[in-house]
Parts: sequence; C-alpha cells; structure tokens
Amino acid sequence: MIPFLDLKTPHIELRAELDAAIARVLDSGWYILGPEVEAFETEWAGYCGANHAVGLANGLDALILALRALGVSPGDEVIVPSNTYIATWLAVSAVGAKPVPVEPDPATHNIDPARIEAAITSRTKVLLPVHLYGQPADLDPILAIARRHGLAVVEDAAQAHGARYKGCRIGAHGDVVCWSFYPGKNLGALGDGGAVTTNRGDLAEKIQVLRNYGSRVKYVNEVQGVNSRLDPLQAAVLRVKLAHLDAWTERRKSIAAIYAEGLASIGLILPHVPDGVDPAWHLYVVRSTERDALQARLTAAGVGTLIHYPIPPHRQEAYAGLGLAPDALPIARNLAGEVLSLPMGPHLSESQALDALDAIKSYAL
Ligand SMILES: *Cc1c(COP(=O)(O)O)cnc(C)c1O
Repeated sequence: MIPFLDLKTPHIELRAELDAAIARVLDSGWYILGPEVEAFETEWAGYCGANHAVGLANGLDALILALRALGVSPGDEVIVPSNTYIATWLAVSAVGAKPVPVEPDPATHNIDPARIEAAITSRTKVLLPVHLYGQPADLDPILAIARRHGLAVVEDAAQAHGARYKGCRIGAHGDVVCWSFYPGKNLGALGDGGAVTTNRGDLAEKIQVLRNYGSRVKYVNEVQGVNSRLDPLQAAVLRVKLAHLDAWTERRKSIAAIYAEGLASIGLILPHVPDGVDPAWHLYVVRSTERDALQARLTAAGVGTLIHYPIPPHRQEAYAGLGLAPDALPIARNLAGEVLSLPMGPHLSESQALDALDAIKSYAL
C-alpha cells in the first residue's frame, strides 16, 4: 500500500522535538499570541525573504484579512483563477466583493497573464494569483499589469512554501502573500494555522490589528476586527517543522524527478515547469482523458491518489448566483475532468515512489 499522504510518520520522526516545543508552551504560561508566535513570525518572514509576517488562524482568514487591509469592499472586483481551490474565491466573497475568474494556461494550470487585462474593469481592485500545486504563477507579467492599472497583488501561496520564482522565494513579490499551515500543506501545523507575509509595514500592522478584534491596546477597538490569531502551540510546532522544510522539499523534488523520468512516454500529460520557476511540489498532478479508470485501477493496486479539484468553483452550487453559462470557463472545467494527483510528500521513500511509478506504468493505457 502506498498512501497518497501520510501525516503521521513525519511527526513521529520528530516526536522528541515536538514534545519539547509543546512542553515549552505549557510551561510558559502564554497561551494567546506572545513570544512563541512572535518568534515564528520572525523566522517565517526571514525564510520567505519578507520584512513582516503575521500569524493567523488559517489560510482562508489570511486571504480575507489581506483583502480587508487593502480596503476591498462591496462593489469591488478581484481577479481570481478559474482553476483553484474554492477558498481563493470565498475570501473575495467574504469581504463582499465579486470574484472575476480568469482561465489558466493549461500547460501550467496557473492563471494565464495574457488573459488578465481583458477581465479588468473600473471596479477591479486586486489581482489574486494562486501558486497552484506549489508551482509559482508567472508573477512578472502579473505585477506589471497591476502596476499599469494601479491594482494591488495578493498571492495565494497556501501550497507554495519554499517555492521560488526567478531565484526568490515566494513571500514578498506581491503586496500581501497568504499562507496556510493546514496539516497537509508543505509546512503544516497539528491543526489549523495561517499567516501573511509582506514587505509593506502599513499592511502588516493593519492585519495585526484586524486579527485581534481590531485592537492594538486591550479593550480599545479601532476597527471591527475578528479573532484570527495563530495559536502559540501551533507556532511552536511550526518552528520545529520549519527547520526540516528544505529537506522535505528536496524529498518532494526527487520524487517529482522520479515520476517525470519514469512517466515521460506513456501518454499522460505531466507537469510543465517553465524556466525560472522552482516549484515546492505540494502536489504532482498528471492529466489523462482516462483519469477515472486510471484512478480506479491504482486504488485497486493500493496506490493512493486524489483529485485536485473535481469541481471548479464556478460549477459549485455555492457560486450558482454568479449566473455563469454552463459552458463558461471551459479550460478549468476540462482540467477538473482530467487531473490526478499522485502520491507525494516527505513520507514517501524513493523505493515507494518507484513502486508507485511501476503501478502507474502498468495501469496507464
Ligand atoms: C489550503 C488552501 C487554502 C486555505 O487554507 P486553510 O488554512 O485551509 O484555510 C487557500 N487556498 C489554497 C490554494 C489552498 O490550497
């Protein structure tokens, strides 16, 4: 059996370090924000090459608070990929703005910069690219379009911990970069967690105030904030795991290389990595018009796979109100019918990756 993902094994390997970190929080007497969260924020900002990090309760809140800090409000429009996890869209809806979808480049699955300008209107405030599957979107043209039209850029980096674009780690290319530490992400907590990173001190400060009831000074509330603080226990766990992130990313890279080499000529469409892009390999996603049959056979052979994502946001009941035509956004719709995520993660040994490869080769048509 080769599981798609095994969250337990990497934590058992770190058991002693994690126990010590958790005990440190227990003994500290600080259970909301405080030194452990601040230490993680400093370390995460440093890792990402950003001036500031603000720890939050989850990745969806990171997106929502980034948009709020930029003043996005009802009547505004935010450009989002048609091909993403629904959280990207939900954040836009949560601040009362309208998600305006733009189709991906099918080769990279990421938002196609060449299609963005046609979607910009006088109401557009923000471009919100997603680094899907851990592969950075093409940021240079996106940032140039934003500059030309006076728009902000918020990056959904929930899958891109440690990924690089033209040599620089994801973390401060756009105005605000939003992170999730959901357990299954490349850097995951033992529960929910999130953060933003940014080079803009004004936005970091706004988000710090928003996450804590709109308050800088206890019982003095400047704005209608929320409770979205990174938990100190999770911060302590994340500090332990951050020290291993690069080694885990290397493991993901070698698994991706094994798949890329072994699957090169069997008729599956493999991930395309453009020059200058260094993915974090959150997922290794292949495409096949026979996807469902392939997945069923791999399941029977004990190889775990998942589909990211089976229904694009615009075809979810949650977005029926957008009133899009049934044949709208065909690229996202077709990708959803063909994508298959192979086993990937630091839990996989090279020999397991080779076993998975053999199974895929014998079952692919
Ligand atoms: C996981 C994820 C999120 C949301 O993160 P949570 O911490 O689960 O709220 C947002 N966007 C993308 C692309 C994600 O993969």
